[in-house]
Parts: sequence; structure tokens; C-alpha cells
Amino acid sequence: MKVIVLGAGLLGATSAYFLRQQGHEVSVVDRQASPAAETSFANGGQISVSHAEPWANPSAPLKVLKWLGQEDAPLLFRIRSDMRQWLWGLQFLRECTPARTRHNIEQIVRLGTYSRNTLQALRRDIGITYDERTQGILHFYTSQKEFDGAEAPAAQMRDLGCDRRVISADEAVRLEPALRHIRPRLAGATYTAEDESGDANRFARELVARCQADGVQFLMSHTVTALRQAGGRIDHVEATDAEGRFRRLRADAYVLAMGSLSPLLAAPVGIRLPIYPAKGYSVTMPVKDASMAHKVSLTDDEYKLVFSRLGDRLRIAGTAELNGYDRDLNRVRCEAIVRRTEELFPGAGDAEQAQFWTGLRPATPSNVPIIGQSKIANLYLNTGHGTLGWTHSCGSGKSIARIVSGLAPEVDFAFVGAMPRTISVGGVEMPA
Ligand SMILES: Cc1cc2nc3c(=O)[nH]c(=O)nc-3n(C[C@H](O)[C@H](O)[C@H](O)COP(=O)(O)OP(=O)(O)OC[C@H]3O[C@@H](n4cnc5c(N)ncnc54)[C@H](O)[C@@H]3O)c2cc1C
Repeated sequence: MKVIVLGAGLLGATSAYFLRQQGHEVSVVDRQASPAAETSFANGGQISVSHAEPWANPSAPLKVLKWLGQEDAPLLFRIRSDMRQWLWGLQFLRECTPARTRHNIEQIVRLGTYSRNTLQALRRDIGITYDERTQGILHFYTSQKEFDGAEAPAAQMRDLGCDRRVISADEAVRLEPALRHIRPRLAGATYTAEDESGDANRFARELVARCQADGVQFLMSHTVTALRQAGGRIDHVEATDAEGRFRRLRADAYVLAMGSLSPLLAAPVGIRLPIYPAKGYSVTMPVKDASMAHKVSLTDDEYKLVFSRLGDRLRIAGTAELNGYDRDLNRVRCEAIVRRTEELFPGAGDAEQAQFWTGLRPATPSNVPIIGQSKIANLYLNTGHGTLGWTHSCGSGKSIARIVSGLAPEVDFAFVGAMPRTISVGGVEMPA
């Protein structure tokens, strides 16, 4: 079957790879000149199954209200006259009940565990490298109240098979000696040994190179302008290339993986995707003093920042601002991240050479991504991965490739649309 993947970010790249593995003829279309150049460019680097508490949870509404108008708030709603933002906000509130939160954690952990396993298998199979580290993720708390509050979600994650252990401040410092400097302020931590980190952009670019070697065609610098229907199916997509020439691209099936931009392409064909861009920041700086720099990937609960060590670079990322498609760098936020890094790990990084970046997380109100078949039979969705698109990329890519191929996915997850069933004939898996 001929399949066109729309978008060459992490989700488009993994979809293309696994579709090719299923034997399809695959093309990928992206408006950028190189893959993973938008939200998958400089993220926090964490493969964090343990980071499964959704933004929408029972304590969120009060916190979001308190943070309104606070420039360096971890989650900032900039209220706009934008109907999509308001609708998203209402849906977000609906996801804040204890029952919805539990349900969403369950989905996020299941997909995350499957995805991490799929990434590990991929690493073994094709030997892909991307400054990966397999030393776990340590989430540290400077507030006793927040630390006490971490026990219940950690217990739920353990019940779901994600071994997020609650540990003392001393144990946290033993695991990551770079935390010694703030030991007096540490209330405690959680540690998930199976979690990982790595450079998502490097991973995506390496995977794209493997795909190209295996015959996948990448149409870069092509902007998709419309999906066109005929007879209840997508007949073709319209695009313009780098020279502004109009192109009509046809396939048997289409996978929409355009991150935050996905809803804009889907709406004209009657598919409303509850995805809103949530701007995040990252700072990347070279390691200056290795003895002060962390090696384990860390999450700073107080500032909602993640820290990953990517080879000889430090990557610090976080904060979320719901303010439409604006990607401007706000100096207050950039400086707050650098200040916090210096406070935690003085002298570890070379702040003079810091590179700042913003990206738009394709956020759903529940933090659960939208994967599966749309109501248009040959249009498939692999989008809305919000804060966890790197963690969920391999599992989502493999699942959508199986769904497009008529095979049942391998993970129990709330996929959208009708799910294929699979039977085994003489040990070979086939669509039922
Ligand atoms: C600050 C920050 C930190 C993060 N940290 C982590 C982390 O530690 N761990 C984790 O798991 N996740 C993290 N994430 C989330 C993760 O980076 C995203 O979920 C993921 O990159 C989304 O990938 P995507 O492929 O859906 O979107 P994108 O990477 O944005 O890809 C979409 C692609 O579609 C293309 N496109 C869009 N519109 C068009 C069009 N009209 N025509 C053609 N092409 C088009 C774009 O050029 C782009 O390449 C973080 C995100 C941010 C912002």
C-alpha cells in the first residue's frame, strides 16, 4: 500500500519507519528543510514513563488560577479571544476530576511502557545512537507538601508496572552526587531506574537516514495546504514546494503527524482535534565543570524543569504557556531557567554559551495522545503527544503502522476509531 505521512517530527519519523517495516511504500512530507526541526528539535530529552501525571489533575485548577499573569509560572494561561483556546480550557477542566486523572495516568503509563520497550528493541535491532543514557530518572522535591503528594501517583504507577520508587533525600544524593549542593533543601525524591534520556532530534534524524536508505521518500520544504476528499475518503493532499510550485500528492492512506498544526489541516475535512499549542522553553549549554554536572536525568518538581545530560551538553527544559502559535523567546523565562540551573549546579554549565529555544507541544486536555483511524477511513492520526512525544514516539509509530496495516496494536490503549483484530495463521499474524 502507498502511504503518505504528513509531518517529519518524532511522530512522523517513527510512523514512517514502522510503516516501511510493514512493507508499505512510504513518503513523508514536511515544510521544513530538515526533519525534526520544530517541536522535536530541542526538547527535554527524557524517556519518562514515570512522568505520567497529566497537567489536568484535581489540584490543577487552583494552581492555574494562582499562576495567571505570573511571567515565570510553570503553566501560564494567557487568555486570548480565541475560541479554540477557551474550548480547550473547558475540556481541560473536565479532565481534572480524580476519576479522569486516574484513567489518563493509566493510558499514559501503558503507552509509555510499551514505547520505551519498543525504543530499546529498536536500539538493539538497528544500533541507533543519540547520546542516550540509561541511568533512570530522578524526580526531586524541595517542598515537603509536594513530596507527600507524590506518594499516591507513584503508587498508582507501581500498580501499573512502572517502578517509580519513593526515596529519601540522602539516597537521591547517592544516586546523583551533583544534587549534594542543594541537599539541605531536598524533601525527598522518586526514582525510576528503567527510564532513560537522549537527544530526540539526533534520534529522529538518524532514523530518517535509516528510512531513506530503506527507500522511504522525504519531500522536505513542502508545505501541505489542504486535504482533499472524494467519495468519503482522502483523495489527495495539496502542497507547495520550496519554489512555490503547486503539487498534488496521492496515496492509499495518509497519517497526520503534524504536531500542533494537525488541527488546522483536519478541521476543514470535519475532524475536530482538541489540540492546542503549549509553548515550552529549553536551554542547551556545554558542560563547563563535569564534577558539578548531573549525569542522571532529573526533574525539578518546584520549577517543573527537566535536566538531561546529552553527551557534553546540558539540556534544561520546561514551562508551558498557552498563547496560540507564538514562539517568541521571553527573556524573563530564559533567565529564570539559567538562574535555577546555576542555583542547583553552580558552575556546571557554560551559561555564556547557552542556546535558547521554544517549541509548541501539541497538547490535548488530558495529555493522552490521539492515535488511530479517523472517521475518514483512509486518514489516520498520530498526534497530540504534548509533553511526552519523545517518550511515546516509538510505541505510537509502531501502533499506527500496525493499525494502517490492519493488524491489532500490541498495547492496551484508548486508540481512536475501530480497531483491527488479528489472527494467527500457522504462527503468522494476519488481519482477522
Ligand atoms: C520544552 C519542551 C520539552 C519537552 N520535553 C520532552 C521530554 O523530555 N520528553 C518527552 O517525551 N517529550 C518532551 N517534549 C514533547 C515532545 O518534544 C513533543 O511531544 C514532540 O516533539 C511532538 O512531535 P511531533 O512529531 O508530534 O511534532 P513536531 O515535531 O512539531 O512535528 C510536526 C512536523 O509537521 C510539520 N508541519 C506542520 N505543519 C505542516 C504543513 N502545513 N505542511 C508540512 N509540514 C508541516 C512540521 O514542520 C514538523 O516537522 C517536550 C516539548 C517541549 C516543547
